[in-house]
Amino acid sequence: MAKKKATAVSSTSSPTTSVDDVTERNEELGMEAGAADASDTVVSPIAGKPAPPEWVVTGYPFQNEPPTDFSRDDMREAMEQALADVADQLGGEYGLVINGKTIDTRAKLTSKNPAHRKQVVGTLAAAHPDHVPQAVDAARRAYRGWSRTPAQQRAEYLEVIAAEMRNRRFELAAWEIYECGKTWAEADADVAEAIDFCMYYAAQMRDLSVTVQCDFPGEENSYTYRPRGVVGVIAPWNFPLAILTGMTVAALVAGNTVVMKPAEQSSVVAAKLMEMFRDAGLPNGVVNFLPGIGEELGPALVAHTDVDMIVFTGSRAVGLAINKDAADTDPRQSMVKRVVAEMGGKNAIIIDDDADLDEAVLGVLQSAFGYSGQKCSACSRVIVLGAVYDAFLARLKPAVESLRIGPPEEPATSIGPVIDEEAQKRIQDYIAVGMEEHRVIVAMGADGLTKEGYYVGPHVFADVEPTARIAQDEIFGPVLAVIRAKNLDEAIDFANRTPYALTAGIYSRSPRNLQRVKQELQVGNLYINRGITGALVQRHPFGGYKMSGIGSKAGGRDYLLQFLIPVCVSENTMRRGFAPDVDATA
Ligand code: NAD
Repeated sequence: MAKKKATAVSSTSSPTTSVDDVTERNEELGMEAGAADASDTVVSPIAGKPAPPEWVVTGYPFQNEPPTDFSRDDMREAMEQALADVADQLGGEYGLVINGKTIDTRAKLTSKNPAHRKQVVGTLAAAHPDHVPQAVDAARRAYRGWSRTPAQQRAEYLEVIAAEMRNRRFELAAWEIYECGKTWAEADADVAEAIDFCMYYAAQMRDLSVTVQCDFPGEENSYTYRPRGVVGVIAPWNFPLAILTGMTVAALVAGNTVVMKPAEQSSVVAAKLMEMFRDAGLPNGVVNFLPGIGEELGPALVAHTDVDMIVFTGSRAVGLAINKDAADTDPRQSMVKRVVAEMGGKNAIIIDDDADLDEAVLGVLQSAFGYSGQKCSACSRVIVLGAVYDAFLARLKPAVESLRIGPPEEPATSIGPVIDEEAQKRIQDYIAVGMEEHRVIVAMGADGLTKEGYYVGPHVFADVEPTARIAQDEIFGPVLAVIRAKNLDEAIDFANRTPYALTAGIYSRSPRNLQRVKQELQVGNLYINRGITGALVQRHPFGGYKMSGIGSKAGGRDYLLQFLIPVCVSENTMRRGFAPDVDATA
C-alpha cells in the first residue's frame, strides 16, 4: 500500500526499474550508453575540440528530488500507511553481511525507538573486530572485478538504487521516524537526499570517466582516473540514510569496494540500505556490512593494512583519532591511507541591526531547533547587534515557545526526542551550566514525555560571553546561546572565535556588510538571509574546514575526486615502425 503511494510521487521510475531500464532512460535523455567509457570517448583539445556540453556551465544533468508535500491528503495518508506497515515489522533481526553472506552472531546490538524507549526497532548481529579482516578480504577480492566494471555500468547501479529508494520512500522515512526520532519532514528530506547522492554521483562519474587527451605532434598524453581500492565507511546516525548512502555510493561509483560501518543508533536503517544494495544486484563483496560498536570495530577497520581509504562523518574527537591512526603507516601497507572526515560545528547566525527580524526569527528557529539541534549544520549561537538585541529576543522567545514537542510519528510534532540516553544526559548537563551561568530566556520542559522517551525541551540563554562553554562546545541538542555584539566587526570576530568552520549565516539588508561577511566569515557554507541547515546536493555542496572537516564537500563537484587516483600516460608516437630484431642482437 505504502509502496503504491510512493510510486505515485515518483515521476522518473517504476517499481521494477532494472539496469536495462535505466540505460533506456539515459538514452531517452540523450546520454549515450557507454558514452563515458574511458576506452571509447576521447576529448582532444588539439584535434577538433567539441563544444562543452551545457551542464559544464550550468551543472550536471541532475535535479534535486522534491520534498513530499504533506499538505496533500494523499501524501499524509501514504505516510500514515507506511508508519502502520513498518510498525508491524518492528523487532526484526538483521545479520552482518560479508561477501554476500548474511552472518549471525551471538553478540547483539538492539536498536530502540528514542521516542518510546522500550520499543525495539530491530536487533542486529554485532560484528566482532575479527570480522573486520574477513570483510576487508572480501572487499579486496571483489575489487578486481568491480574496479574493471565500466563506469557507466557502475553509475547505472546507483540509479537503480535511487529508483528503489523512490519506490520505498515513505517506508524508509517511517524507519527513520521509529529509529532516530525524526519528524515526518526531516525523515522525508533525508531519504530525498540519499536519492540525490546516488543520482548526482552517477552523473558526475560519467563525466570523470571521459579520458582527457592533451596531444602534441609525436606525443599522445591521456589523463584518466583509477579507483583507490578498499574503502572503510564510518557513518553517524543523524542523517541515517543520506550520509551513509552518500559516502558509500561515492566510493562505489568510483570503482572502489567498501566495508560499511553504520552508527549503532541507526543500524536498522543501515540494514535497509544494505538490502537495497543486494536487491540492485551488486556483486558479492562489493559492499560488506558490519554493524557493531564503533569503539571496537572502528580502530580495527582504520588500522587494517589492506584498507586504502577511510571516509568518516561524525564527531571531532573520533575524526581526529581516525586521522592520527590512519597516518601510522605499517610496512605491510601498499598505500598511504587517505582520510576524508566530516566533523562537527558550532555554527553562528549574525543578526545585523537592519535585519528583517520576522525572517531572522524564523530562520534561527528552524536552524537551531530542527531535529532538536542534532545537525552538524545547526545554529547554536546567535550573535545579535546591540541595536536590535532586545527586540530580537522579545520575538524569539514566543516563537520558540510555540514549538510543539511530541512523538515524531505524529505529523504536528516539530520537536521529537534526542537520539539516546547518553545524548539526553549530555545536553541536560549543558543546560545546567546555562541555567547557572547565563540569563534564561526559554527553558521548555518535555512534561510527561520524558518517561516515555529521551526528550529535551528547547532552551535559549542570553548575554552569553563568546568564550563561555555553551558558546564553544558542540552540544548537539536544542540549546541556543545568544551573544550581544557592539558592531559587525565584533560580531564577525565572535563568530570566527571557535575551532570549527562549518556553517554560518547572516540576516542583513546592507550590501556592504554582506560583502564583508562573505570575505571574513570562516566557514565552508555561508547562508545569507535564510536558515543555515538543509543543504541540497549540487546546489549547496556541504562541508567545512578548520576542525570541521578534512576533504572536499559532499554533494559537490570535487567530492568524487577524493576516491580516485589520477593517472597520466604519455606515449612517444614518433618512432613506431622500427623494431629491432631481438634474436639478431642477442
Ligand atoms: P560519533 O563520532 O560518535 O560516531 C560516528 C561514527 O564513528 C559511528 O559509526 C561510531 O560508531 C563510530 N566510532 C565511534 N568511535 C569510533 C572509533 N574510536 N573509531 C572509529 N569509529 C568510531 O558521532 P555521532 O554521534 O554518530 O554523530 C554526531 C557528530 O557527527 C556531531 O559531532 C556532528 O557534528 C557530526 N556530523 C558532522 C557532519 C558533517 O557533514 N560535517 C554530518 C553529520 C554529523
